[in-house]
Amino acid sequence: MALRALLGAALVFWVVAAAWWVVAAAWWAAAPAWGGGPLAVVATSTDLKALVEEVGGDRVRVEGLAPPLADPHAVEIKPGQIAALRGAALLVRVGLDHEPWLAGLLRTVGDARLAPGGSSVLDCSKGIDLLQAVVARVKPERGDHVHGFGNTHYWLDPENARPITAGILEALVRLAPSERAYFESRRAAFLTRLDAGLKRWTDAMGPYRGTKVVVVHESWPYFARRFGLQIVAAVEPVPGVPPSPAYLATLTRQMKDGNVRVLIAEPYSSAALVARVASLSGARAVTLVASVGGAPEARDYVALFDLDVARLVEALR
Ligand SMILES: [Zn+2]
Repeated sequence: MALRALLGAALVFWVVAAAWWVVAAAWWAAAPAWGGGPLAVVATSTDLKALVEEVGGDRVRVEGLAPPLADPHAVEIKPGQIAALRGAALLVRVGLDHEPWLAGLLRTVGDARLAPGGSSVLDCSKGIDLLQAVVARVKPERGDHVHGFGNTHYWLDPENARPITAGILEALVRLAPSERAYFESRRAAFLTRLDAGLKRWTDAMGPYRGTKVVVVHESWPYFARRFGLQIVAAVEPVPGVPPSPAYLATLTRQMKDGNVRVLIAEPYSSAALVARVASLSGARAVTLVASVGGAPEARDYVALFDLDVARLVEALR
Protein backbone atom coordinates (compact mmCIF):
# COMPACT_ATOMS: atom_id res chain seq x y z
CA MET A 1 0.00 0.00 0.00
CA ALA A 2 2.81 2.38 1.00
CA LEU A 3 4.68 1.45 -2.19
CA ARG A 4 1.61 2.20 -4.32
CA ALA A 5 1.20 5.64 -2.65
CA LEU A 6 4.87 6.35 -3.19
CA LEU A 7 4.64 5.41 -6.89
CA GLY A 8 1.51 7.56 -7.22
CA ALA A 9 3.27 10.55 -5.68
CA ALA A 10 6.27 10.05 -8.00
CA LEU A 11 3.96 9.87 -11.03
CA VAL A 12 2.18 13.09 -10.00
CA PHE A 13 5.57 14.75 -9.51
CA TRP A 14 6.78 13.76 -13.00
CA VAL A 15 3.52 14.77 -14.68
CA VAL A 16 3.65 18.19 -12.98
CA ALA A 17 7.35 18.61 -13.86
CA ALA A 18 6.76 17.63 -17.50
CA ALA A 19 3.81 20.04 -17.75
CA TRP A 20 5.96 22.82 -16.31
CA TRP A 21 8.64 22.22 -18.93
CA VAL A 22 6.08 22.25 -21.75
CA VAL A 23 4.66 25.57 -20.49
CA ALA A 24 8.15 27.04 -19.98
CA ALA A 25 9.29 25.95 -23.46
CA ALA A 26 6.16 27.47 -25.04
CA TRP A 27 6.74 30.71 -23.17
CA TRP A 28 10.36 30.94 -24.34
CA ALA A 29 9.37 30.18 -27.93
CA ALA A 30 6.68 32.88 -27.85
CA ALA A 31 8.86 35.46 -26.13
CA PRO A 32 9.79 38.23 -28.60
CA ALA A 33 13.50 38.53 -29.38
CA TRP A 34 13.02 42.28 -29.50
CA GLY A 35 13.99 44.12 -26.35
CA GLY A 36 12.80 47.58 -27.41
CA GLY A 37 15.98 49.06 -28.96
CA PRO A 38 16.52 49.29 -32.73
CA LEU A 39 16.87 45.89 -34.42
CA ALA A 40 20.41 45.35 -35.75
CA VAL A 41 20.02 44.46 -39.43
CA VAL A 42 22.79 43.84 -41.98
CA ALA A 43 21.96 44.26 -45.68
CA THR A 44 24.41 43.20 -48.40
CA SER A 45 23.67 46.27 -50.56
CA THR A 46 22.74 49.91 -50.04
CA ASP A 47 19.52 49.25 -51.99
CA LEU A 48 18.32 46.57 -49.58
CA LYS A 49 19.51 48.77 -46.68
CA ALA A 50 17.35 51.60 -48.03
CA LEU A 51 14.33 49.32 -48.38
CA VAL A 52 14.76 47.91 -44.84
CA GLU A 53 14.88 51.51 -43.57
CA GLU A 54 11.72 52.40 -45.53
CA VAL A 55 9.82 49.66 -43.66
CA GLY A 56 11.73 49.64 -40.36
CA GLY A 57 12.07 53.39 -39.72
CA ASP A 58 13.62 54.15 -36.35
CA ARG A 59 12.97 50.58 -35.12
CA VAL A 60 15.97 49.33 -37.16
CA ARG A 61 19.66 50.12 -37.36
CA VAL A 62 20.91 48.90 -40.75
CA GLU A 63 24.49 48.30 -41.84
CA GLY A 64 25.16 47.91 -45.58
CA LEU A 65 28.05 45.67 -46.64
CA ALA A 66 28.76 46.58 -50.29
CA PRO A 67 29.70 50.25 -50.91
CA PRO A 68 27.37 51.82 -53.53
CA LEU A 69 30.13 52.55 -56.03
CA ALA A 70 31.84 49.14 -55.93
CA ASP A 71 31.18 46.27 -58.31
CA PRO A 72 28.56 44.41 -56.23
CA HIS A 73 29.99 41.03 -57.28
CA ALA A 74 33.50 41.90 -56.02
CA VAL A 75 33.44 43.51 -52.59
CA GLU A 76 36.41 43.93 -50.30
CA ILE A 77 35.81 42.51 -46.83
CA LYS A 78 36.54 44.79 -43.86
CA PRO A 79 36.79 43.86 -40.15
CA GLY A 80 33.82 46.14 -39.31
CA GLN A 81 31.59 43.98 -41.55
CA ILE A 82 32.46 40.87 -39.53
CA ALA A 83 31.58 42.70 -36.30
CA ALA A 84 28.27 43.91 -37.78
CA LEU A 85 27.32 40.38 -38.82
CA ARG A 86 28.19 38.98 -35.37
CA GLY A 87 25.59 41.24 -33.74
CA ALA A 88 22.92 41.01 -36.46
CA ALA A 89 19.35 40.01 -35.71
CA LEU A 90 18.72 39.73 -39.45
CA LEU A 91 20.77 39.46 -42.66
CA VAL A 92 19.03 40.72 -45.80
CA ARG A 93 20.68 39.64 -49.05
CA VAL A 94 20.21 39.72 -52.83
CA GLY A 95 20.86 35.96 -53.02
CA LEU A 96 21.62 33.70 -56.00
CA ASP A 97 25.32 34.23 -56.88
CA HIS A 98 25.18 38.02 -56.54
CA GLU A 99 27.46 38.13 -53.46
CA PRO A 100 30.23 35.55 -54.04
CA TRP A 101 32.30 37.42 -51.40
CA LEU A 102 29.69 36.77 -48.69
CA ALA A 103 30.40 33.04 -48.27
CA GLY A 104 33.92 33.65 -46.91
CA LEU A 105 32.63 36.39 -44.62
CA LEU A 106 29.93 34.08 -43.23
CA ARG A 107 32.49 31.31 -42.73
CA THR A 108 34.59 33.72 -40.63
CA VAL A 109 31.54 34.73 -38.59
CA GLY A 110 30.52 31.05 -38.18
CA ASP A 111 26.90 31.71 -37.18
CA ALA A 112 24.51 29.05 -38.55
CA ARG A 113 21.57 31.50 -38.27
CA LEU A 114 23.13 33.66 -41.00
CA ALA A 115 24.19 30.84 -43.37
CA PRO A 116 22.09 30.35 -46.55
CA GLY A 117 18.69 29.02 -45.48
CA GLY A 118 19.41 30.01 -41.84
CA SER A 119 16.70 31.26 -39.47
CA SER A 120 17.92 34.90 -39.52
CA VAL A 121 18.41 35.32 -43.29
CA LEU A 122 16.05 37.03 -45.69
CA ASP A 123 16.97 36.06 -49.26
CA CYS A 124 15.12 38.67 -51.34
CA SER A 125 15.48 36.67 -54.58
CA LYS A 126 12.78 34.29 -53.33
CA GLY A 127 9.50 35.42 -54.82
CA ILE A 128 11.13 37.39 -57.66
CA ASP A 129 10.31 36.50 -61.26
CA LEU A 130 13.93 36.11 -62.42
CA LEU A 131 15.14 37.06 -65.88
CA GLN A 132 17.81 35.12 -67.82
CA ALA A 133 17.30 32.14 -65.51
CA VAL A 134 17.23 29.57 -68.30
CA VAL A 135 20.16 30.85 -70.34
CA ALA A 136 23.10 28.45 -70.29
CA ARG A 137 25.89 30.31 -68.53
CA VAL A 138 29.48 29.66 -67.59
CA LYS A 139 29.91 26.43 -65.64
CA PRO A 140 29.76 26.95 -61.84
CA GLU A 141 33.25 25.42 -61.44
CA ARG A 142 34.68 28.65 -62.85
CA GLY A 143 35.29 31.18 -60.13
CA ASP A 144 34.59 34.24 -62.25
CA HIS A 145 30.97 33.61 -63.21
CA VAL A 146 28.05 35.64 -61.98
CA HIS A 147 24.32 35.48 -62.87
CA GLY A 148 24.70 31.67 -63.05
CA PHE A 149 21.15 31.13 -61.69
CA GLY A 150 19.46 34.08 -63.39
CA ASN A 151 20.08 37.82 -63.46
CA THR A 152 20.62 39.12 -59.92
CA HIS A 153 20.01 42.87 -60.50
CA TYR A 154 16.27 42.56 -59.87
CA TRP A 155 16.01 45.59 -57.51
CA LEU A 156 16.43 47.78 -60.62
CA ASP A 157 12.82 47.12 -61.55
CA PRO A 158 11.00 49.40 -59.10
CA GLU A 159 7.99 47.05 -59.20
CA ASN A 160 10.19 44.45 -57.48
CA ALA A 161 10.32 46.71 -54.41
CA ARG A 162 6.80 45.42 -53.70
CA PRO A 163 7.76 41.74 -53.07
CA ILE A 164 11.09 42.77 -51.52
CA THR A 165 9.45 45.05 -48.92
CA ALA A 166 6.73 42.42 -48.31
CA GLY A 167 9.51 39.98 -47.29
CA ILE A 168 11.20 42.66 -45.17
CA LEU A 169 7.90 43.44 -43.41
CA GLU A 170 7.34 39.77 -42.60
CA ALA A 171 10.90 39.34 -41.28
CA LEU A 172 10.74 42.48 -39.09
CA VAL A 173 7.34 41.52 -37.67
CA ARG A 174 8.76 38.13 -36.71
CA LEU A 175 11.51 39.89 -34.74
CA ALA A 176 9.31 42.61 -33.21
CA PRO A 177 5.66 41.44 -33.37
CA SER A 178 4.37 44.38 -31.31
CA GLU A 179 5.58 46.79 -34.04
CA ARG A 180 3.48 45.27 -36.84
CA ALA A 181 1.18 48.28 -37.30
CA TYR A 182 4.18 50.66 -37.42
CA PHE A 183 5.99 48.57 -40.07
CA GLU A 184 2.80 48.13 -42.12
CA SER A 185 2.01 51.83 -42.17
CA ARG A 186 5.60 52.70 -43.14
CA ARG A 187 5.51 50.19 -46.01
CA ALA A 188 2.16 51.56 -47.21
CA ALA A 189 3.56 55.12 -47.22
CA PHE A 190 6.61 53.90 -49.18
CA LEU A 191 4.43 52.12 -51.77
CA THR A 192 2.41 55.32 -52.25
CA ARG A 193 5.63 57.20 -53.08
CA LEU A 194 6.77 54.31 -55.28
CA ASP A 195 3.50 54.33 -57.25
CA ALA A 196 3.80 58.08 -57.84
CA GLY A 197 7.38 57.48 -59.00
CA LEU A 198 6.35 54.68 -61.35
CA LYS A 199 3.88 56.98 -63.04
CA ARG A 200 6.53 59.73 -63.33
CA TRP A 201 9.20 57.38 -64.74
CA THR A 202 6.87 55.58 -67.15
CA ASP A 203 5.64 58.93 -68.51
CA ALA A 204 9.21 60.24 -68.93
CA MET A 205 10.39 57.05 -70.69
CA GLY A 206 7.24 56.72 -72.81
CA PRO A 207 8.63 58.48 -75.94
CA TYR A 208 11.66 56.16 -75.98
CA ARG A 209 9.91 52.76 -75.81
CA GLY A 210 11.64 50.22 -78.03
CA THR A 211 14.92 52.16 -78.16
CA LYS A 212 17.91 49.86 -78.69
CA VAL A 213 20.71 50.16 -76.13
CA VAL A 214 23.93 48.31 -75.34
CA VAL A 215 25.02 47.78 -71.74
CA VAL A 216 28.50 47.22 -70.30
CA HIS A 217 27.43 44.74 -67.59
CA GLU A 218 24.01 43.07 -67.63
CA SER A 219 22.69 45.09 -64.70
CA TRP A 220 19.70 46.51 -66.55
CA PRO A 221 17.37 43.82 -67.95
CA TYR A 222 14.73 44.39 -65.22
CA PHE A 223 14.94 48.17 -65.64
CA ALA A 224 14.79 47.83 -69.45
CA ARG A 225 11.76 45.53 -69.32
CA ARG A 226 9.89 47.93 -67.04
CA PHE A 227 10.56 51.01 -69.17
CA GLY A 228 10.51 49.46 -72.65
CA LEU A 229 14.18 49.66 -73.63
CA GLN A 230 15.61 46.95 -75.84
CA ILE A 231 19.05 45.71 -74.70
CA VAL A 232 20.63 44.28 -77.87
CA ALA A 233 24.05 43.33 -76.47
CA ALA A 234 26.45 43.59 -73.53
CA VAL A 235 30.08 44.68 -73.72
CA GLU A 236 30.95 41.83 -71.36
CA PRO A 237 30.44 38.65 -73.44
CA VAL A 238 29.66 36.80 -70.18
CA PRO A 239 28.80 38.74 -66.98
CA GLY A 240 32.05 39.63 -65.21
CA VAL A 241 34.27 38.62 -68.14
CA PRO A 242 36.05 41.43 -70.10
CA PRO A 243 35.66 41.43 -73.89
CA SER A 244 38.39 40.40 -76.31
CA PRO A 245 39.47 42.87 -79.04
CA ALA A 246 37.76 40.66 -81.65
CA TYR A 247 34.49 40.64 -79.68
CA LEU A 248 34.67 44.45 -79.33
CA ALA A 249 35.26 44.91 -83.07
CA THR A 250 32.19 42.80 -83.95
CA LEU A 251 30.05 44.43 -81.26
CA THR A 252 30.85 48.02 -82.26
CA ARG A 253 30.27 47.23 -85.95
CA GLN A 254 26.86 45.75 -85.06
CA MET A 255 26.06 48.83 -82.94
CA LYS A 256 26.83 51.08 -85.92
CA ASP A 257 24.84 48.93 -88.36
CA GLY A 258 21.90 48.66 -85.92
CA ASN A 259 21.93 52.40 -85.14
CA VAL A 260 22.40 51.83 -81.38
CA ARG A 261 22.80 55.34 -80.01
CA VAL A 262 23.23 54.74 -76.29
CA LEU A 263 25.71 52.73 -74.23
CA ILE A 264 24.76 52.23 -70.55
CA ALA A 265 27.68 52.04 -68.10
CA GLU A 266 27.92 51.81 -64.29
CA PRO A 267 30.06 54.09 -62.09
CA TYR A 268 32.50 51.18 -61.62
CA SER A 269 32.78 50.33 -65.34
CA SER A 270 36.25 50.67 -66.87
CA ALA A 271 36.35 54.27 -68.14
CA ALA A 272 38.84 53.30 -70.86
CA LEU A 273 36.61 50.48 -72.10
CA VAL A 274 33.49 52.68 -72.11
CA ALA A 275 35.32 55.43 -74.05
CA ARG A 276 36.65 52.88 -76.55
CA VAL A 277 33.22 51.33 -77.26
CA ALA A 278 31.64 54.79 -77.53
CA SER A 279 34.25 56.06 -79.95
CA LEU A 280 34.26 52.90 -82.13
CA SER A 281 30.45 52.69 -82.29
CA GLY A 282 29.50 56.35 -82.27
CA ALA A 283 27.06 55.71 -79.41
CA ARG A 284 26.70 58.11 -76.49
CA ALA A 285 27.78 56.66 -73.13
CA VAL A 286 25.56 57.33 -70.12
CA THR A 287 26.49 56.28 -66.60
CA LEU A 288 23.48 55.06 -64.64
CA VAL A 289 23.74 54.61 -60.90
CA ALA A 290 22.95 51.01 -60.00
CA SER A 291 22.67 51.46 -56.22
CA VAL A 292 21.30 53.92 -53.67
CA GLY A 293 24.06 56.32 -52.57
CA GLY A 294 26.03 55.92 -55.82
CA ALA A 295 25.50 59.65 -56.41
CA PRO A 296 24.45 62.41 -53.97
CA GLU A 297 21.01 62.69 -55.66
CA ALA A 298 20.37 58.93 -55.30
CA ARG A 299 19.79 59.32 -51.56
CA ASP A 300 16.96 56.76 -51.35
CA TYR A 301 15.31 54.08 -53.48
CA VAL A 302 12.79 56.37 -55.21
CA ALA A 303 15.42 59.08 -55.79
CA LEU A 304 17.68 56.47 -57.46
CA PHE A 305 15.13 56.01 -60.27
CA ASP A 306 14.47 59.75 -60.53
CA LEU A 307 18.19 60.21 -61.19
CA ASP A 308 18.61 57.31 -63.63
CA VAL A 309 15.50 58.18 -65.65
CA ALA A 310 16.62 61.83 -65.87
CA ARG A 311 20.09 60.80 -67.06
CA LEU A 312 18.64 58.38 -69.64
CA VAL A 313 16.15 60.87 -71.01
CA GLU A 314 19.00 63.37 -71.35
CA ALA A 315 21.09 60.80 -73.28
CA LEU A 316 18.19 59.61 -75.49
CA ARG A 317 16.91 63.06 -76.39
ZN1 LIG B 1 25.81 41.44 -62.27
